[in-house]
Amino acid sequence: MEKTLSIIKPDGVSKGLIGEVIKRLEAAEFQIVAMKLINMTKAQAQGFYAVHKERPFFDSVTTFMSSGPAVVMVLKGVNVIAEYRKIMGATDYKKADEGTIRKSYATDIEKNVVHGSDSPETAAFEISYFFNRFEIVD
Ligand code: GDP
Repeated sequence: MEKTLSIIKPDGVSKGLIGEVIKRLEAAEFQIVAMKLINMTKAQAQGFYAVHKERPFFDSVTTFMSSGPAVVMVLKGVNVIAEYRKIMGATDYKKADEGTIRKSYATDIEKNVVHGSDSPETAAFEISYFFNRFEIVD
């Protein structure tokens, strides 16, 4: 069993996609072991995306991630890091497979509806960035 951090990004929340995304997570039989609605500050978004601080889109993506409410969740399951990324689809929705969340709903390489950790190391960092152990029902 593995855990991963999932975010329904501000574009997903503002487009009314919380239910749709959660329906897909449940259909995939991922267990939701933590969940909350947050509105990140710019500084919190910069800390979250610190690995991207040298990238040209860093300022833009951290402004976007702090632009409104987002749903952060911890998902648990067998191979959930890779399995959830399959359901999310490629970063660029134009390259995402049919039927993925990003292919269905993203409108922009940046406003791509969902986030998912990409390795066990980033999952551990990202989960602890938003949740303490008493908030994870495991
Ligand atoms: P992810 O793991 O699929 O989310 O992709 P990355 O870790 O590479 O990028 C993090 C986030 O930054 C993406 O989900 C997008 O929201 C944003 N992003 C990635 N590439 C670009 C880009 O070329 N331009 C802009 N504006 N945003 C980007």
